Amino acid sequence: MPDKRGVCNPVSIEMIEFNPEWQIEDNELGIYYISGVIPQRLIYTSLGGNIQPEFAQRAILSFEKLLCSGRLGNGNYSRIADFSEVKKIPLNSRILYADALNELQEKYNFQPKITYVCGASLLVKTMLRAIASHVKQNLVFVPTVQDAFDLFNNVSCMWETEQSEQVIISRKEMNDFAKLCGQILYDKSYSIEEHRKLLRPEHPLHELYKIITVLNNDLRELLETEKEQNHKIKAALETSQELNKELSDQKKNVEEKKEIQKILIENLKKAREEAEIASRAKSEFLANMSHEIRTPLHAAIGMTELLLDTPLNSQQKHYTHNIHISTKQLHQLINDILDFSKIESGRLDKEKSLFDLRKLFDEISSVLTSSAEKAGLQLMFIIPPSIPSTLSGHPNYLQQVIINLVQNALKFTYQGKIIVNVEPVSETRDIINLRISVKDTGIGIPEGKKELIFQRFTQLDSSATRKEGGTGLGLAITRKLVEFMGGTINIESREHEGSEFWFVISFLKPLENKKNSNANSVGHIAASSEHDTAEAVQRIEKTWPSNTRILVVEDNRINQQVATAMLAKLGLTADIAANGLEAIEALKQVPYTIVIMDLQMPLMGGLDATREIRKMETGVINPNVPIIAITANATREDRQECLNACMNDFITKPFMIQSLKDILQKWIPESCI
Ligand code: ADP
Repeated sequence: MPDKRGVCNPVSIEMIEFNPEWQIEDNELGIYYISGVIPQRLIYTSLGGNIQPEFAQRAILSFEKLLCSGRLGNGNYSRIADFSEVKKIPLNSRILYADALNELQEKYNFQPKITYVCGASLLVKTMLRAIASHVKQNLVFVPTVQDAFDLFNNVSCMWETEQSEQVIISRKEMNDFAKLCGQILYDKSYSIEEHRKLLRPEHPLHELYKIITVLNNDLRELLETEKEQNHKIKAALETSQELNKELSDQKKNVEEKKEIQKILIENLKKAREEAEIASRAKSEFLANMSHEIRTPLHAAIGMTELLLDTPLNSQQKHYTHNIHISTKQLHQLINDILDFSKIESGRLDKEKSLFDLRKLFDEISSVLTSSAEKAGLQLMFIIPPSIPSTLSGHPNYLQQVIINLVQNALKFTYQGKIIVNVEPVSETRDIINLRISVKDTGIGIPEGKKELIFQRFTQLDSSATRKEGGTGLGLAITRKLVEFMGGTINIESREHEGSEFWFVISFLKPLENKKNSNANSVGHIAASSEHDTAEAVQRIEKTWPSNTRILVVEDNRINQQVATAMLAKLGLTADIAANGLEAIEALKQVPYTIVIMDLQMPLMGGLDATREIRKMETGVINPNVPIIAITANATREDRQECLNACMNDFITKPFMIQSLKDILQKWIPESCI
């Protein structure tokens, strides 16, 4: 601190404060960095060893800690840097060190008045001199730390002596020096020994020689660094080229895969189209075949039905009865196969329609009760009154499922009863879930065989089935239909005790639905059987008006006979047309009351004929004559097709006398009757 006269007290090495945080050392490498401070006056640093860039970085960090400590104050200070133990500071370390010192200068306003560099060898001195301008510090080189203190305390003025020293050089010395410079620059194999001979330490240009050596070394180091960097750049280039190649290979790969994918998609599309064509062909084939098979079958069933009504001896009656059963079974088989193929090809009618659940059960009962009675079995239908009558769903499929299950129950039950039960499982404002079950007291199904029976053409005991017939398709169809309606079919069964088949299906409740108050809580719904026909015919025979004229349009000769014979049984006569064209001609001549028309016929089919008949310009006597289609299958599409062609109704082939009677009653105008 300056005294009253402005003179500062002298400082000494003992006054330096040290702190372990401000110093680092690496004993293994023999390098160290120590820094200390005499507050307001002096910074002391001491560096030793071969200072590589990594260590220089660490030294700077520890020095920064000193600057951060605030021990230096804002005073007018100097720096004493002891370099006496420094062996080497490569160019990179020097640059890094100088840059870092400059940064600290900015950051902490670190600006020593003078930096005394102590004990630096000639080489180190030269190195420091070379970079002095970059460090922006005023460097003064002194031999020892004590010399630095003496200078600082104004005890000596050695610095000035050094500055003013004169050097005298002879021409020979200049020449020797030039020769040496040449060797340093161009002759890589020069030896320091040779140089020593040429340039002894007492040579006046010895220091200059040192400077050139340092600069030459620095140059070599720079070249080395450049070489290294070039090498790295080359390696990076090679890697990037490899990567590029890999990338382009992968791109090519992706493109190839895309190409393959395209081909696969193309093939798949083709295969699908082919499959669709095949499937369409199959459906068409089935439809045609079914027509071809149904036509003679219709004839066979109709004829046997008529034959059974004629006086026959008991043997004849027995044979005819067997023919009747066999043809009906064949009819069932064809229907099952067609149904199954229709389900398989996803051609089920998705549209839901309103239906009356109790009426549907009435219909089922009317179909099956007589068979149950014949077998001595009780058939019961249970629908609790809480279940609304009108629902929305798939009535045709539901009916088919229940009929299939009851028919199976009838086949495999030898005594006892069959109960068809409907129970509400849950209900919301719009939906009711119903559990529908068919339970019998029959032979049951052994454990382990329950899944088997749902497979196509599977019959557990062919001897039992043979007795009653069957195709082995019934349950496969049933399961698919139940699943189509959103349910799952389940079985509970014990061998010799009986079986229960059940499923749960959701039905929509139409808004205007009112709970059916007059429904039976438990009811056996009686059905009229086909065998009541004779009586019904008797009743109706008297009611046909005398001017009733019927035209049957049918190409198959035997079916023509079946139709006329059935109509005759109903007390009616009919004219025959073999195709649409003949029908039109006949309708031009005779005012027929009703036309019963087959769909598939040569020359002109039923649909085209109807369209022609409805046209005024065709000139039939009554273009609005009721036309009843004879269809193979009562599907929605068939029905729609008939209606689109302006037909009035349809009757499904093969038809029985009863259904013929019903449809005639419906369509023969009131005034006629
Ligand atoms: P099928 O036309 O032969 O009746 P299904 O697919 O309807 O064909 O039935 C397959 C088999 O499942 C039947 O042959 C029979 O062995 C068994 N089965 C079906 N329903 C019952 C039942 N209620 N009781 C006992 N066995 C049954």
